[in-house]
Amino acid sequence: MKVLIVLYSGGQAAQEQPRLLGTTENKLGIFDWLKGLGHDVVVTDDKEGPNSEFQKHIVDAEILVTTPFHPGYLTADLIDKAKNLKLCVTAGVGSDHVDLNAANKRKITVAEVSGSNVVSVAEHVVMTMLCLVRNFVPAHEQIINHKWNVAQIARDAYDLEGKVVGTIGCGRIGYRVLQRLEPFNCKELLWFDYNDIPAEAAKAISAKRVDTLDELLSRCDVITVNCPLHESTRGLINADAIKKMKKGVWIVNTARGAICDRKAIVEALESGYIAGYGGDVWDVQPAPPDHPWRDMRGPNGNGNAMTPHYSGTTLDAQARYAAGTKEIIENYLNGKPQNPANVIVENGEYATKAYGQRK
Ligand code: NAD
Repeated sequence: MKVLIVLYSGGQAAQEQPRLLGTTENKLGIFDWLKGLGHDVVVTDDKEGPNSEFQKHIVDAEILVTTPFHPGYLTADLIDKAKNLKLCVTAGVGSDHVDLNAANKRKITVAEVSGSNVVSVAEHVVMTMLCLVRNFVPAHEQIINHKWNVAQIARDAYDLEGKVVGTIGCGRIGYRVLQRLEPFNCKELLWFDYNDIPAEAAKAISAKRVDTLDELLSRCDVITVNCPLHESTRGLINADAIKKMKKGVWIVNTARGAICDRKAIVEALESGYIAGYGGDVWDVQPAPPDHPWRDMRGPNGNGNAMTPHYSGTTLDAQARYAAGTKEIIENYLNGKPQNPANVIVENGEYATKAYGQRK
């Protein structure tokens, strides 16, 4: 059978660091194993356009492995062409790069390595909040540019203590962000999710659930987005939603770029309505050189804490999602059921409750 693996290219870094498993060079550590089993394995980073390796090989692949860090976008059209496709494995967490409704029509299973990088992302969220609230990025820029102007930085620098912080989505990452914020003595920690969390988990943190998204938007000084991208979260943070937020809010989004409206974020930051925007996810990846989220800044030249998509691909995370990818493929090859926590869609239905409220 053909296994198609779409990963980012690691170049020299991947040659020097074999623990960069999620690269075309190190092939998630599964290439030799699959080859040894007699499978035809194609590994590529070439994923855009009809002549790409991705689109060429998807037509007869039975398994597609791709990663959110360099996603092979599996549209409904491509699913139509992928006549042999049975299993899509996300090497990481977040399977929005697959048209899940189209996958369901064809009864293709989509599975991801749930939990594999949630601590990695939660740490990045807290770091990004601190970078924005404390105005770290321009302070660091001053130093590397051989400058020193304390007042210029301090005019927009605050403490996280005493602020109201809330998460949209309180699943594995959102919950871990709240856990990690406990010692910061925030004024309030809030969460909004249409799914509840287990009673024990609720008891273990001081955070309060709010009933509506609007309530969360209007009460928070810092808002973090931690829900998957699906039909009802695409563009969720648009100009209307931003109007409901407090002026001077900081937004951290490590979930998916397309949950936040590209133009609305730029306008709100440049006008000074939002004090900062940070995260590592973009509405198209890799982000083109002229993507406005690269250069956007607030009126004082600050408020941008964007990075490339790497929060969930630390070396620790790569070890976990490489092992999890192998396990999912092994289950498939041996006809064993998948771990239910990893399954997004299966047998024509959503197996997870995290991708929107459905009947
Ligand atoms: P999860 O499934 O454990 O939790 C997601 C939560 O979001 C669920 O509780 C779900 O009910 C909730 N949700 C869905 N739609 C919502 C809505 N409209 N409003 C409020 N809540 C909503 O997933 P997770 O492991 O916490 O990951 C969340 C997302 O983070 C992933 O789907 C992925 O897109 C992203 N992610 C990013 C990285 C990265 O490297 N930047 C890594 C891992 C995951």
